[in-house]
Amino acid sequence: MDMHRIFYQKRKDIRAVVHTHSTYSTTLATLRWDLPASNYYLAIAGGNNVKCADYASFGTWDLAEKAYEAMQNRYACFLANHGLLTGSIDLPNAFSIAEEIERCAETYYRAKSIGEPVLLSDEEMDFMLEKFQTYGQVKA
Ligand SMILES: [Zn+2]
Repeated sequence: MDMHRIFYQKRKDIRAVVHTHSTYSTTLATLRWDLPASNYYLAIAGGNNVKCADYASFGTWDLAEKAYEAMQNRYACFLANHGLLTGSIDLPNAFSIAEEIERCAETYYRAKSIGEPVLLSDEEMDFMLEKFQTYGQVKA
């Protein structure tokens, strides 16, 4: 499948890709929202947000390219009106990122439903990204 292959071809740091239609990630992707830094654990995806890729039909090279673009310098992205995509060095890490991003999407959704979530600063997220490089990884 192109959406998996494009990462194996172009990114040395991605050797496994996980794709889901999990509810809360798909909900935000339906709004075509990025997931902002509402929780430090978002750093597991390698950035201070998870970006939503532009819409393209499933199973097309166009979707693969749009996902690739949204996942630059990241290990996760949303697919507009579709779902979630994650990638990592191996399957356990890619799966773990998918689980954690879905959890972040759920808590963001829940917080947003009763108030305005307070977001972490870029400085704090940079610090979290540093920490995740050393102890955030699941051991394969
Ligand atoms: Zn799908």
